[in-house]
Amino acid sequence: MYQLLCQIFISITGKNLPEEAFDVLWPLLQGSRKGREDIYLGITDYSRQTPHQILLGSIPCQFYQTWEQFLELKKKMRTKQWKNRYYRDSASRLFVSAPVWESKTIWIDRTYDNPMTRLNYILYMKSERDKQIVLRNINQYGDIRGVDISWMSCCVFCGDFMRLRSYSFKNEKLDIEKACKQVNRHGYNYGEKFDKIGRRNTSGLPLCSLCKDSKDRQEKYRMNMLSRGDWGESLYHERDEQYHRNIGDMYPKPDMSEVSGDIKPIWKTPYEYCNGWELTDPLSEWFWHPDLTADEYMRWIEHTKLSDLEDLLDDDLYDQFEENPEYVVEDVIEYIIQKLEEE
Ligand SMILES: [Zn+2]
Repeated sequence: MYQLLCQIFISITGKNLPEEAFDVLWPLLQGSRKGREDIYLGITDYSRQTPHQILLGSIPCQFYQTWEQFLELKKKMRTKQWKNRYYRDSASRLFVSAPVWESKTIWIDRTYDNPMTRLNYILYMKSERDKQIVLRNINQYGDIRGVDISWMSCCVFCGDFMRLRSYSFKNEKLDIEKACKQVNRHGYNYGEKFDKIGRRNTSGLPLCSLCKDSKDRQEKYRMNMLSRGDWGESLYHERDEQYHRNIGDMYPKPDMSEVSGDIKPIWKTPYEYCNGWELTDPLSEWFWHPDLTADEYMRWIEHTKLSDLEDLLDDDLYDQFEENPEYVVEDVIEYIIQKLEEE
């Protein structure tokens, strides 16, 4: 069956079936003829995705409460008026490529007293340029909104497109824009319930398996890292060497001269020390200054955390916090009087 699947995949896509796709499609292989038809759709759906993704937000709900209404919407999206409005570059007046694939997930939102039918509609564009033009057009007209969700499926370090993650994410029956905002704000998605965290590989920042465990790769791609250009206020991101260079020039490089070379970091990679966004945030205590190697960064963090602890232990008053506050105040006053008398 696996061989057959590979052949179907090659005939549709012209490429070999990625190994991880098998995990997604395996449950479908266990079923009936209907299951096998679903495989065909699944493979197509999986392989046609591109890294240039636009989520359509605020589609009026009267377009997807029934199947007939939804067909009307699809018809509307094939009209000349729609194409002229959204798929044409206003500067050159030329058409960009229409989306190479579209994904539609209809689901029931039960977070309110009255369950609501909801729709996640995603356009997959051929290139970054096409995506930017279509996004601008959509948001200019204002009937619906375009939300750039591409970053959710590209590794924060190397930027590689994570097809399986993208596939799982688009199939999620949840408010995708809200999930993006959560991940953008906190580095991971709290979800409606805590038990949802980590169930799939879509609830946190996108991180490919190669970069996850490799400090060398994290160092190599430090200047290519995805960063929140406005510290999480909106879904605005930067991934640009010059951007990181400018920040590196604005903030002083940590002084490594006092950091012992003997420190053995407790974690294997910089990413493990914080939630990811903080690595590129110069205002964070976990900021990875671009002029530090991965090893230097980890030793620096261990050093600062260690000296914080020593500062705390050196504090003469530290032990007294356990005691009755009244005595602490008395002790402090006594200490001051003593000091004054000594002088
Ligand atoms: Zn990566």
